[in-house]
Amino acid sequence: MRILVTNDDGIFADGLWALVKGLKSIAQVIVVAPIKEQSAVGTAVTLSQPLRVQKVSLIVPEVETYSVEGTPSDCVILALEKLIKNKVDMVVSGINHGLNLGDDALISGTVSAALQGYLRGFPALAISAAAVDSLQLDNAAKLATLLAEKVASRVLPSDILLNINLPDLPPAKIGGAQITQLASRSHIDTVEEGNDGRRQYYWLLRQRMGKAADNQTDIWAVERGDISITPLHTSWLNRSAPAIPDNLCAHLLHELR
Ligand code: MN
Repeated sequence: MRILVTNDDGIFADGLWALVKGLKSIAQVIVVAPIKEQSAVGTAVTLSQPLRVQKVSLIVPEVETYSVEGTPSDCVILALEKLIKNKVDMVVSGINHGLNLGDDALISGTVSAALQGYLRGFPALAISAAAVDSLQLDNAAKLATLLAEKVASRVLPSDILLNINLPDLPPAKIGGAQITQLASRSHIDTVEEGNDGRRQYYWLLRQRMGKAADNQTDIWAVERGDISITPLHTSWLNRSAPAIPDNLCAHLLHELR
């Protein structure tokens, strides 16, 4: 199996390499990631300037790695259309440093990179963790690896785009795992105005809404201390629901522990 791995926190992010370390145990991994952080750029694609690519050989020597002066979506398009000679089987994006829940999924570079893979016919996973210490990143990587195996062994369908989020809990304290839907509007956006001595500036500020999230949404799951697994292709693209086995969550938790 061959897996394309990317992220939006940039090529030096710990989450990316924790994910690579996990997936390397079941697949040949190729990394194509932005040279610098691209969080919250959503599905942005660079059309107004050329993309510069650097082959990097020093990070994990046996993992083919490219850094791109572009967005996460640029990375996936470039990887699938040009850089990778032999076809990959899957696209995995993350592990994002921080959650991508509710309407954040629409601005997330992590989720958008997975979406680009999905739109090109590949099974795609986006994975995000509330906490980024090595214990929790390794746990998230293990979960991503388990899910990738489920896709490879056809326990999960190949026509799948999953957004996975892990709560800020040590692995043993995670209560369960839930198949969820995206929560509807989850933030209050405000704009702070100031002056830096030269010019006016504006900061966009996002504050999580206080209201309780609806049952079976991703925010509800994570707030309960559960892992959230959201099939985005049903939420976004209005396709029929994928056949996810009833016992998937129980199995994942069992294997994760
Ligand atoms: Mn990010």
